Amino acid sequence: MYDSPPTIEQIRRAPKVLLHDHLDGGLRPSTVVELAGEHGYTGLPTGDSDALGRWFVEDRPRHDLVRYLAGFTHTLAVMQHADAIRRVATECVEDLADDGIVYAEVRFAPELHTEAGLALEEVVEATLAGFAEGSETAAARGRPIVVRALLTAMRSAARSLEIAELAVRYRDLGVAGFDVAGPEAGYPPTRHLDAFQLVNQENFHATLHAGEAFGLPSIWEALQWCNAERLGHGVRIVDDIVSEPDGAVRLGRLASYVRDRRVPLELCPTSNVHTGAAPSLAEHPVGLLRRLQFRVTLNTDNRLMSGVTLSSEMERCCAAFGWDWGDLAWLSINAMKSAFYPFDDRLALINGVIKPGFASLAAESAFRVSAPLA
Ligand SMILES: [Zn+2]
Repeated sequence: MYDSPPTIEQIRRAPKVLLHDHLDGGLRPSTVVELAGEHGYTGLPTGDSDALGRWFVEDRPRHDLVRYLAGFTHTLAVMQHADAIRRVATECVEDLADDGIVYAEVRFAPELHTEAGLALEEVVEATLAGFAEGSETAAARGRPIVVRALLTAMRSAARSLEIAELAVRYRDLGVAGFDVAGPEAGYPPTRHLDAFQLVNQENFHATLHAGEAFGLPSIWEALQWCNAERLGHGVRIVDDIVSEPDGAVRLGRLASYVRDRRVPLELCPTSNVHTGAAPSLAEHPVGLLRRLQFRVTLNTDNRLMSGVTLSSEMERCCAAFGWDWGDLAWLSINAMKSAFYPFDDRLALINGVIKPGFASLAAESAFRVSAPLA
């Protein structure tokens, strides 16, 4: 019996888990256009939503972080009012549920949504209201999904303690953790130690953008100074892994620590290719890290700017690395194990939804190939 590779249509039906997705990186192009009209934003490169969608994804030189980040100017410009934020959050959940995701943590930086006068709390509440509304709609359509928020502080700013306090304050209302994002070079995570100390002292959860474009010191600080539970990207951990000419692979102390401690890596391969952190998907370290059994999770980062869904990312990795249903189930279980969600609820999703869902899809694939031969 031979398994056929998972198709995009099948992967979309698989019960998947997403841990690293930015709210302001995942808008529908039509929503960007409509919100710009409603709120008088005139800076969009085009008012045609199809052309705008292409502008975000295609009309861009690859490996260009500056151009990649320019897209956020527009998405953030239309997310400065509570109704707009709520709509984006609602649609985000609907889109993730349509892609077959059963659990997601979606992050955003409240401090980037205050230009029109919103208070940080209003930003969080509008987002959580949108998540609740989107979850209801999705459940009514037979696509149940759990969505939690991660509050991101900007590395280059000085509001991380305030954002950490905000995250802790909303922990029972849908916020699952704290994150820091932004340029790594010149802004080490240790600038935000007080924020991480607060999170730790409150027995709360933190992940941290580290080891995306910048190397091992950033990962080391994230783990050993900030006590981050997961690494946002963390892909540069490969800089501490040496492949010998005879095929043997040697891990340095930090890479060993990350693997031994099962530190989850929130890998986002296509995003890394677009920002220049990896030359191509086929050369992306996710293949090696999966083979070495790091705690790999697969993520979208910015669905709009990268033109991806979690399903498309999985399909591309299957093509690039020969992954099968076993790999995709392993990634999904890894992600669920690493979620900032209570242990018994994680187990219930793993055993009640994820494992049976992947098992039946794998059986379907095997049947499709074997049936004509029988
Ligand atoms: Zn990110």
